[in-house]
Amino acid sequence: MTAVLDARDLVRIYESRQGLLARPVPIRAVDGVSLKVHPGETLGIVGESGSGKSTLGRMLLGVDPAQGGEVRLAGTPMPPRGTADWRALRARIQMVYQDPLSALDRRLPISVQIREPLDIHAIGTPASRAARVEELMQAVGLRPDQAGRYPHELSGGQRQRVVIARALATGPDLLVCDEPVSALDVSIQAQVVNLLRDLQQGGQLSMVFISHDLKVVRNLCDRVAVMYLGRIVEEGPAEELFAHPRHPYTQALVSSVPEPGRALDSRVILQGEPPNPGKRPSGCAFHPRCAFATGICRAELPQLQTVAPRQTAACHHVTGAPASRAA
Ligand code: ATP
Ligand code: MG
Repeated sequence: MTAVLDARDLVRIYESRQGLLARPVPIRAVDGVSLKVHPGETLGIVGESGSGKSTLGRMLLGVDPAQGGEVRLAGTPMPPRGTADWRALRARIQMVYQDPLSALDRRLPISVQIREPLDIHAIGTPASRAARVEELMQAVGLRPDQAGRYPHELSGGQRQRVVIARALATGPDLLVCDEPVSALDVSIQAQVVNLLRDLQQGGQLSMVFISHDLKVVRNLCDRVAVMYLGRIVEEGPAEELFAHPRHPYTQALVSSVPEPGRALDSRVILQGEPPNPGKRPSGCAFHPRCAFATGICRAELPQLQTVAPRQTAACHHVTGAPASRAA
């Protein structure tokens, strides 16, 4: 089966100044990331702030150009940004950002904004576009009488529904959602998550779901990739990765989610400072915070290796069950 999305060895380096007069230092925001998304599948991407999730998300759409590696959509290499071929391909892959208000135009009624991608890509007739807008509004749970409303006349949850309806307008194969619910009130986050779940169940839509919220990732995603300082350090089916995290970083992330029945003293606490992308540690970038680190961790960058069926982790010590490594 051809993957909807096949990204290989993606690299994105930013030049960043860590002070007004400081020399710019290269920041490897995304550093050799490969991933695949299959039809109908949802891939979760998790990791601390600054680990490169949003940069990776933008690269998947070609909005942020890769400096190395390649993105293929349904087998077709991503054309250069701004070309007619790229614009055509953009109808097949859409992005939903964190803040719906900044994604929308305050001056336009929402029905016009939902219709916009159909106008841009010249899909259908004026009549069929109007019918499609009605259908999309219904699909995301907006009422027909809200069509003429402006973004500021809606709640945050309703605004995110508008953004999702617009992203779905062209019938994309893939939706990249970057923290789609984290700017919303906790009480309405569940509504938007449920909407995304309904869309998954509706058929062939594939999703990349970037989030800090491991609980949501756990129940929405089929597979999960864990990022640390621009690299994927573990990847696997959501159920297995949460039940048996192999990389010490994933173990710490997973154990930070409170769960009934788990003793507090069994939590793995992340040590040390959050990483500074401008000062990447040698070897395994996680080693300064890792309770299991040894000489090889300081010296050599670990590669992803298979640790269980369909599960990979990049750790020099990941051989047996996680608990056995504490000895
Ligand atoms: P968060 O969880 O806070 O959203 P993230 O995982 O999405 O974080 P990114 O926004 O992708 O992380 O940033 C990755 C790294 O790249 C960070 O160190 C960030 O400071 C840097 N970065 C991102 N965009 C730029 C840019 N336009 N110019 C310079 N550095 C950037
Ligand atoms: Mg981000």
